[in-house]
Amino acid sequence: MNFNKVYDVIIVGGGSSGLYAASLLARQAKAFFPSVLILEKSRHCGTKLLMSGGGQCNLTHSGSIKEFLTHYGCAGNSLRSILYTHNNLAVRSHFETLGVKTTQREDGKVFPLSMSAKEVRSALLSSIKKAGFEIKTESAAVRILNVSSARLLDSFSKIQSKSITDHALSKNSGSEDTVYEILTESSATYHCRNLIIACGGCSYPQTGSDGSIFSVLKQLNLEITELSPALVPIHVQDYPYSTLSGISFQKAELRILSKYSPENWSIQNKKKVPEKRFYGPLLFTHNSLSGPLILDVSRYLHAGDRIALSYLPGVENAALSKELRRAAQGSTKNIETLLCDISKELGASFPKRFAELLTASFPKLSGRKASSLSGTALSMLAKRITDDEFCISSLSSYQTAMCTSGGVSLSEIDLKTMEAKKYPRLFIIGECLDVDGDTGGYNLQFAFSSAAAAVKTLIQKSFYCPVP
Ligand SMILES: Cc1cc2nc3c(=O)[nH]c(=O)nc-3n(C[C@H](O)[C@H](O)[C@H](O)COP(=O)(O)OP(=O)(O)OC[C@H]3O[C@@H](n4cnc5c(N)ncnc54)[C@H](O)[C@@H]3O)c2cc1C
Repeated sequence: MNFNKVYDVIIVGGGSSGLYAASLLARQAKAFFPSVLILEKSRHCGTKLLMSGGGQCNLTHSGSIKEFLTHYGCAGNSLRSILYTHNNLAVRSHFETLGVKTTQREDGKVFPLSMSAKEVRSALLSSIKKAGFEIKTESAAVRILNVSSARLLDSFSKIQSKSITDHALSKNSGSEDTVYEILTESSATYHCRNLIIACGGCSYPQTGSDGSIFSVLKQLNLEITELSPALVPIHVQDYPYSTLSGISFQKAELRILSKYSPENWSIQNKKKVPEKRFYGPLLFTHNSLSGPLILDVSRYLHAGDRIALSYLPGVENAALSKELRRAAQGSTKNIETLLCDISKELGASFPKRFAELLTASFPKLSGRKASSLSGTALSMLAKRITDDEFCISSLSSYQTAMCTSGGVSLSEIDLKTMEAKKYPRLFIIGECLDVDGDTGGYNLQFAFSSAAAAVKTLIQKSFYCPVP
């Protein structure tokens, strides 16, 4: 092993943000940083990137960047600088320079034109390899130390006889001559002047992002906020729609009726609910509520919370009840057909099976002529459609979560540069920060924007403080 080598940059984590940072370094700053090393825990880089967007990779969203800020819960405003500086156009432009043409769907989601996450990963990897940067897989970082350059030079001559624990971990004491030392699971040690931590969160742990980095970062005295699965389907008590698995609604409404324990909530998970009504596509699965509406709101929900769904958003209960009575009067249709027709008029188009399940859940309503139903029965149906109440029994686990809520506290980071306040030239980017975006390309955009901010800072610093 080469104990004398001090890399210009080490990137810990070869996922979406780490590969993007390396590809930017390759394109913009190879002259300043010729020796770059990626340490990746798993056997392959970018495994989660490959899975993203169902293998199609929803790179970003085409909406105005101003509107982006609303897609990161309470963190949104603090991300303004990062997202504005390297925005969705910059991401598309960088991929175009790597040879990946992008396309925008009607719903605003941006994908590679090939609709292939594989192409995205290959383009990033080939730019990195072309620059001569090194990648070491199966190299999980298990310890990070900051040592002064002088001390490092001294220790190079003695290190083989010294235990790693002899290096003091200096808390809050980083200085510009700091060299970072990374110890991997296989007991290899690497040194660098600039360190980028890009290890992701805890979701889909089989991809390598298993949250193990957080204990390493805690040793650096960095605050980690409470971690929980985000962008997850939710399980509710007495779930009635298992036979409707696969049925979706283009636009539904979710209201949070009550939190199980507001006090506990605020301690456990400091995220405040920014609004009470949420809108978006809804999906019934065989055992849970899912779809972008549910996934995006899941960051605010806990077991015990009560929610209500409306399958006709914008239509109030009383108005629907009145409309049902009017339409039922003298109608020759059965109630299911009437429900489907009215929902179509109101822009929702209920599938027949959904209407059938609704009526079957009340005694003696199935298949009845609409005109024969009482006003009370029609009101009950209206309530079920606009106010379908549920008590949450649990949220899905990290195994199915698309993102992690919580991570390195944003208070630890300069949010213009992504540099840790306590450690100069140590950058933290991507999902291992306490940032979780909505579905629709917002998480990859944050991974890329934060990577770009770190690289920009590195380049600026290299002008003012050239690497010897
Ligand atoms: C199924 C699925 C689909 C998704 N689809 C989309 C989508 O279409 N659009 C979108 O915007 N977002 C999507 N996301 C979210 C998005 O993929 C992530 O937010 C994004 O990949 C985070 O990038 P990252 O670099 O921070 O972490 P990751 O991409 O998870 O990369 C982290 C890397 O660090 C490595 N690592 C972890 N610990 C260590 C360690 N100690 N030492 C060394 N290496 C380590 C991991 O092995 C991993 O390779 C999806 C997520 C999932 C799970």
